[in-house]
Amino acid sequence: MNKAQLIKRVEDILKILNREYPEARTHLDFSSPFELLVSTVLAAQCTDVRINLVMPPLYKKIYKGPKDILKDGIENFTNNIKSITFFNSKAKSIIGMCEMLVNDFGGKVPGTIEELTKLPGVGRKSASVVLGNCFGQKDVIIVDTHLKRVSGRLGLIENDNPEKIETELKEIVPSEQQYNYSLKIGEHGRVICDAKKPKCEECFLNNICPSKNLLTKQNKKAKK
Ligand code: SF4
Repeated sequence: MNKAQLIKRVEDILKILNREYPEARTHLDFSSPFELLVSTVLAAQCTDVRINLVMPPLYKKIYKGPKDILKDGIENFTNNIKSITFFNSKAKSIIGMCEMLVNDFGGKVPGTIEELTKLPGVGRKSASVVLGNCFGQKDVIIVDTHLKRVSGRLGLIENDNPEKIETELKEIVPSEQQYNYSLKIGEHGRVICDAKKPKCEECFLNNICPSKNLLTKQNKKAKK
């Protein structure tokens, strides 16, 4: 497919996804950029459900900002998040992040991708989540596992590397729609286009999707 055809495909997909998922949003609970930043870093290779169980009570009670985590110390912080996967290494990153927030950013979460990705533990994905949700930035692509899988199945990307995926999608998704695309595709991945058992037969993108027949056949074979 050439670029113009891919742009048209994205347009068609977005029309349908906007209709089907008008309320799509991030699944992490937060009430400030700091909370979302911490929760996003902790959510890597863990579930949003687990993070939402553990973190909001802690934010409410003790960790209102980076200084509170530093004051509590790494031992207590690690202990408080020990039901989260890779809690030891994540606690170290969060402590480093809080130190940098306090020392270099006046205790506030910065609002650019360059600054955010300087923080320990913060990659482009986490930075984009914060920018899209808290800073109203529309031209961010959040390359998570759902976006990667669903965009690939829809024939929109060829690469496997997150930075290359971001570049590929930024060329075909209008800049003011990139954050919206990330949310809607993520929702579709959760609800219909499951990693192991995509529901192709009931999928409202199946007229557009080049993987439909392939995955439907695979599913039928697996059921036999
Ligand atoms: S048709 Fe199947 S593979 Fe394509 S987007 Fe829908 S669920 Fe995913």
